[in-house]
Amino acid sequence: MSATPTRRIIAATTLVALLTLSACAAGPAFHARQIAAQPTPSTPAPTPSASPSPTPRPTPGSLDWYVSQVPTFPEAPPPQPVPLPATGPIPFWYRLPIDQKVAFITIDDGGLARPPAVPDFIWRARIPVTMFLNSPAAEEYGDYFRQIQASGGIVENHTIRHTSLAGRSYDYQKQEICGSADKLETLFGKRPTLFRPPFGEYDSTTLEAARDCGAKAVLHWSETVHEGKVRYQTPEKVIRPGDVLLMHFRPALMDDLLAALKAIHRAGLTPALLQDYIR
Ligand SMILES: [Zn+2]
Repeated sequence: MSATPTRRIIAATTLVALLTLSACAAGPAFHARQIAAQPTPSTPAPTPSASPSPTPRPTPGSLDWYVSQVPTFPEAPPPQPVPLPATGPIPFWYRLPIDQKVAFITIDDGGLARPPAVPDFIWRARIPVTMFLNSPAAEEYGDYFRQIQASGGIVENHTIRHTSLAGRSYDYQKQEICGSADKLETLFGKRPTLFRPPFGEYDSTTLEAARDCGAKAVLHWSETVHEGKVRYQTPEKVIRPGDVLLMHFRPALMDDLLAALKAIHRAGLTPALLQDYIR
């Protein structure tokens, strides 16, 4: 995981009055695990009555407000990676086949909108995210996505042109998947190991081409989040262990992230990184 010094300096300067020393010292690589680690037993959260002069409440809609709304999660279990097949097709998952009490936040595309507060929100709230990017957007707005990468976010592959792959030739699919993987590797210093087909549409050729381009698994999703609302795909309307939540780089991404975090918390789960479970 690479952390750009510039990003860390900017973040530390901006947040020096807001973060504890231990949080600042933790560094971006630690953030994904930090979301489960507060409050610690030695530092109980202050109660309103313990404060002689109440601090002003953050303005709704401000970054401080979003951070203040993030629930405190149970500590995430040590990840137990899913066994992967040694040969043959790579797996295609709607959700990860695990019982561990974690769920996964994924953000797709990248070309439509990039709300400016999102990188700081992810940094300050220690939100573990996977970004499935289209490589042209990743290239055009690389600085934005590198800020999220510096906060522990991981870039994965979502093709070049965002066309449906199902039914297309192996050569076409390989060009879309490998071409994007090559570009993302150049831009972010790490070759993608996960692939998500546009619209979730795929066939057996997609799994073959994705494997040949370096993917260990192909991911669909189990819930979508849009304009601050979680859309469940089961009647129980609850996030289950291993679920994968899909949102997009769209104008309401701050609300989508918060809605996802609250839904994961309501289910008694903790957000985790896909890449800790698919190795
Ligand atoms: Zn997409």
